[in-house]
Amino acid sequence: MQDLAEAQQELSKQEELLAEIEKQANLLLEQSTALHNQLSSLQSDVASKKALQEAREERLARFQSIDGQPTCSYCGLPLTSEHLDDERRRVEDELREAKQAYEKALTQYTTIAQQKKDLGQKLDQLSRQDKSQRQIIKQCERRCDRARSDQTSASAQAIIVLQMLTPDYIARIQGSASTPLDLEACLRAVYPTSHDLDELALQLRDKPSLRERLQAVTTDVEQRAELTRTRDFIFNEIQPLERVYPT
Ligand SMILES: [Zn+2]
Repeated sequence: MQDLAEAQQELSKQEELLAEIEKQANLLLEQSTALHNQLSSLQSDVASKKALQEAREERLARFQSIDGQPTCSYCGLPLTSEHLDDERRRVEDELREAKQAYEKALTQYTTIAQQKKDLGQKLDQLSRQDKSQRQIIKQCERRCDRARSDQTSASAQAIIVLQMLTPDYIARIQGSASTPLDLEACLRAVYPTSHDLDELALQLRDKPSLRERLQAVTTDVEQRAELTRTRDFIFNEIQPLERVYPT
């Protein structure tokens, strides 16, 4: 009975742990999905920033070819050496900006990708924990089953023993001998109580006098038997005399 309660307590404790693992795993899965979506958009961001940077690189390369032309091919103004310097600076600035934007996007992507990778490792670990926790729960369930069947056979045996007890004894345990045997009540009942023990102590204290009384009764019985034998003997002796000397 104790074993079953303990086994059931352990089982529910382990089931709570499993629920906690699964809760954590679900939380991480949600985070992982969010990171996955974030990565998808960062990936296209990186791709577009890379394309922009490449376009700016091509523009700078093309810029070399406008040198020597009468007008600027970008804005149409006369291509003075001053305007050529201005345009070069502008094209170079734009390229630098594009490069910075691309690197920033790439760093973001790498950071999030690393977070997702770490999360994946945690999820793998949780998945292993989940698996071993299920094994532990199976063991607990088997222990519960064993304790339950032990309890069933112990109950059957206890009922047999209780049925052999005198009604007086049952009444002491159960409060009443006339009601059907209630194993749970009998096992729950505190017996002997301190009152019962006091009574037993009193009976034990009376034991010497009980023994004396038993001895007296035994002696009395023996004396009566002896008297009977003597009477029968005398009777047998007297009978023939009676026939000879009738009263
Ligand atoms: Zn121009």
